[in-house]
Amino acid sequence: MTHEILTAGSLKAFPLPMPHEGSKDERGSALVLGGSRSVPGAALLAGVAALRAGAGKLKIATVESRAAGMGLAVPEAMVVGLPETPEGGVDGERAKDCLLKVTKGCDGLLIGPGLVEDGPTTKLAVELLEALPDASFILDAAAICGLAPHAGDVCRHGERVVITPHAGEMAQLLDRSREAVEADPLDAALAAANLLHAVVVMKGAQTWIVDPQGARWLYEGGGVGLATSGSGDALAGIVVGLLARGLAPLAAALWGVFLHGEAGKRLAASIGPVGFLAREIPGEVPRLLRETG
Ligand code: AMP
Ligand code: MG
Repeated sequence: MTHEILTAGSLKAFPLPMPHEGSKDERGSALVLGGSRSVPGAALLAGVAALRAGAGKLKIATVESRAAGMGLAVPEAMVVGLPETPEGGVDGERAKDCLLKVTKGCDGLLIGPGLVEDGPTTKLAVELLEALPDASFILDAAAICGLAPHAGDVCRHGERVVITPHAGEMAQLLDRSREAVEADPLDAALAAANLLHAVVVMKGAQTWIVDPQGARWLYEGGGVGLATSGSGDALAGIVVGLLARGLAPLAAALWGVFLHGEAGKRLAASIGPVGFLAREIPGEVPRLLRETG
């Protein structure tokens, strides 16, 4: 099977749902489960990106000690504080009941950015997948690192799942070395898509997007400035925003990679090739959506 280079033209086959006159409910509810005492901002970056991608409503579920700060930093979000481990991560076991309540009615869920514990995080992700049969999910960061033992469970829901690993996270998922993943990222992406029956976004200077049937797209990169702290959180947030709006996982992944990359190009042109901030990426998205959608 050959691959397609991902351009604005490719996206014509995946039209965006148009914003109607209706209420914010029509553009869906996104939830970001992320952040920890030492990395609280990842959930913030992702949540803001979800709104910039057009999601109607946003919930951020994060560790108790950072919830008040989050609520003030993202006044648009409903923020839920979750029980915390002594190390400052989400206590998966104690957080479960609360999460099952707050995720009810959510259309798109992002799990992972800034979470510090991979095993409990992934167990939670599987429980939420089972509890919310109509929602779509994106798993990122810590939620990918602990995924291997739960592959069979995720597989049963794979058609509703996108994962967005960088090479290090992919290496953990497949039990390969990082060097092996970097040497053949397409092969790794295909192996992960086959393992999980999910859409895989294999991130790097170039990004491969692969679906469970083996169809593949290559995005040739938005520039080296995107290699910056928090950049992947912004990408994951854009994708969950699009999932909340009702895009199917493959369409949300393709759109998300494209919008994130093109935002990088715009910021490189207006600020400089490196040195723009991940928090500046989401602000480019609405204009790009208007021009491309
Ligand atoms: P993360 O490592 O999770 O923060 O994700 C980094 C994001 O930046 C991904 O979307 C990558 O595809 C993108 N990225 C990383 N390095 C480069 C690069 N050298 N050129 C273009 N994009 C990059
Ligand atoms: Mg990341």
